[in-house]
Amino acid sequence: MSGRVAVVTGGAGGIGTEISKRLASEGYRVVVTCAPVFECPNLDEWKRLRKEEGFDIRVYDCDVTDFTSCKNAMELIEKEVGPVDVLVNCAGITRDAQLKNMTEQNWNDVIDTNLTSAFNVTKQVFVGMLDRGYGRIVNISSINGRKGQFGQANYSAAKAGIHGFTMAIAQEGVRKGVTVNSVSPGYIGTEMVKKIPEEALKKIVAQIPVGRLGRPDEIARVIAFLVHEDAGFITGANIDVNGGQFIH
Ligand code: NDP
Repeated sequence: MSGRVAVVTGGAGGIGTEISKRLASEGYRVVVTCAPVFECPNLDEWKRLRKEEGFDIRVYDCDVTDFTSCKNAMELIEKEVGPVDVLVNCAGITRDAQLKNMTEQNWNDVIDTNLTSAFNVTKQVFVGMLDRGYGRIVNISSINGRKGQFGQANYSAAKAGIHGFTMAIAQEGVRKGVTVNSVSPGYIGTEMVKKIPEEALKKIVAQIPVGRLGRPDEIARVIAFLVHEDAGFITGANIDVNGGQFIH
């Protein structure tokens, strides 16, 4: 593979880690971004594990909710590692509550981290991609941005917004070799999903035709497919990876 630079936001998270490892094993120079404000509590351990596994993955601070932080981080990455040809917008959070209980802070935090983040980060690298005539962007959405979810008005709105963002900038990149797609995972067994109460999670799994939660590596392989140099005819698309939840 080409040694192209691939940036994965939230790349030390459950799904992000598998994406980072997969891209690194395919020969990309992978850069993971991590939010300093969240203190990345397990980051040293994360770095140690990746090293032990033989991965050379760099980590940069970047708060995806903060435009200036994203600008500074992407400038530093381009200076120290090289032009960013692949971007995976993976950072995300949940702050679940029924609308009647949802606070303004719950709403704003989720919109900022799951939607505005995609603008904040993509904006920094998109022009460079257009100028060089090559780019691959994948935005991580969610099944709940496709169908809505009780208790997730904020998250569903943000993730649905990702589809509009993806389709719009796909049109801006289409003549310049820049593809932009989204992946909508169903329920994947990461910390984010482990926060769901056990009884609720049992009900969720019962609704997944495959009969289990997805694995982060099952998302990573779709990302690797979409960012491949040979995937230039796929743009503005969404791939659902949800264990058959739309078979009804
Ligand atoms: P994790 O919580 O494991 O990972 C999320 C990552 O986002 C973390 O690395 C976190 O960094 C980072 N992040 C959060 N806030 C910020 C911020 N302000 N700036 C920079 N980074 C930030 O979640 P998952 O791996 O499960 O989720 C990854 C993506 O997949 C998310 O977008 C999520 O919405 C989506 N998704 C997940 C599903 C699932 O079932 N797990 C289903 C559908 C979609 P830090 O560790 O520093 O907080």
